[in-house]
Amino acid sequence: MKEEDWVVAIPKLGPVIAIDGPAGTGKSTATRQLADALGFVHIDTGALYRAVALLSRKSPQIATQEEAEVAASLAGRVHLEFRRNPEKNPANRIFADGQDLTDQIRTPEVTMASSRISALPAVRAALLGLQRRLGCRGRAILEGRDIGTVIFPDADVKFFLSASVDERAKRRLIELEATGVDAPTFEEVKAQIVERDRGDSSRAVAPLKKAGDAIEVDTSQMTLDEVVQMMVQTVRKRLWQK
Ligand code: C5P
Repeated sequence: MKEEDWVVAIPKLGPVIAIDGPAGTGKSTATRQLADALGFVHIDTGALYRAVALLSRKSPQIATQEEAEVAASLAGRVHLEFRRNPEKNPANRIFADGQDLTDQIRTPEVTMASSRISALPAVRAALLGLQRRLGCRGRAILEGRDIGTVIFPDADVKFFLSASVDERAKRRLIELEATGVDAPTFEEVKAQIVERDRGDSSRAVAPLKKAGDAIEVDTSQMTLDEVVQMMVQTVRKRLWQK
C-alpha cells in the first residue's frame, strides 16, 4: 500500500481545513487568525520538519554521518508534540522528547536545513501518520505544503495561498527585521525563497502543489485582514450553511 493510501485509513472525525502554499504568503499568520476566529486547533506542520532539522544539526553523529541519514533516523525516533502556552508567543509550542524547541526553529540555518531534509522520503514517511493523527479529531486547521494533497486529501475546505516572489521576500524581510537578528538584504532573502520554492516544488515525494479542489488565494495585493475574512466566510459557507 502506498503511504498516501494508508494515511487516509486513519478516520477523520470532524471538520478539517487544509492550507498549503509556499513561504511568505502570510500563511502562518492567516492560519492562526482563522483558527482563533473559528475556535479550531492550529497545526503548523512546518514546525515538525523544522524540529527534526534542528535536532539533526545538534546531533553528535552529524560529524560522522550525512545529514540525510541522521535526519531520517531521528524523525522515526523522536516524540514530537504541540503544547499550548498562552503566556508565550507563539502560544502553540513544539516539543521534542519533552523539550520546548519553539524559540530555536526559526533561524535561517534551520529554515534551509528543514527544506533539505523535508525532501527525504524517510523523513516524510516518519511524519505522515503523526500529522494525520494531530488533525483527525476534527475542528483542526493544518498548514503546510502537502496537506490538501497527501495528509488530508479528504479535507472539508482547502486553500492554496500564493503571492509574487518579490512580495513574499518583502514580507519575510520585515519579519526578520522585527526579530532583531542581523537582517540579510532583500536580494539574499529573495534568493533563499527562490531556492526553497525550487526544492519544495521539485522533490519527488509530496511536492508543493495545489490540490485540484483547493481554492487559490493570491495574497499579493491583499491585506492580512482581507485574507482572513475571505477564508472565514468561505469556511462558514462550506461547513455550516449547506
Ligand atoms: O512552513 P515552514 O516554512 O515553516 O516549513 C519549513 C520547511 O518544511 C519548508 O520549506 C518545507 O520544505 C517543509 N515542509 C514540508 N511539508 C510540510 C510543511 C513544511 O515539506 N507539510
